[in-house]
Amino acid sequence: MNPIGENEIRESFVNCSKGEARRLNLPRDLSELHWEDLDFLGWCDPGAPDRGYVVVERNGELVGITLRLAQGTRRSFTKSAICSVCVTPHAGNGVTLFTASRVGAAGRQGNTVGTYMCADLACSLYVRGKKQTGYGMRFEETLTVEERIARTAVNLEGFLDKVLEDNVGSGAR
Ligand SMILES: [Zn+2]
Repeated sequence: MNPIGENEIRESFVNCSKGEARRLNLPRDLSELHWEDLDFLGWCDPGAPDRGYVVVERNGELVGITLRLAQGTRRSFTKSAICSVCVTPHAGNGVTLFTASRVGAAGRQGNTVGTYMCADLACSLYVRGKKQTGYGMRFEETLTVEERIARTAVNLEGFLDKVLEDNVGSGAR
């Protein structure tokens, strides 16, 4: 993705209040990130361990989503788990259930969408092999890196679709 700055990031958030977007903690080393390796900017709040954020370009606009770590859903160390965005297998605690408030009226009524994702939100780096999981054995994937990048984008898009769906009720269209 193209490098983005603090103001752009703060203005991109769609599912939290403006005040929250102003106050949330950005990644510490924004200027040192390898943006060319990122499909989206994802980070865990350095000051609030139950919070994470994703900022991604969608239809030419930046969309920021605040995420909460669902309570009590960290999986055991003995099990493996797979990120539903980048499909990277991790040892149990490398994948976490994140929930996002939906936008608009649905969100105000407490409607959330959940997804299992890499706990450090570094999916872009895992698909490129720039970051290794603690999970020794990788699945033999026949996809190329480009195909995995494309699949990650599709999966993240699907999650965003649900967060951005501003209709109250079942969520069915
Ligand atoms: Zn992932």
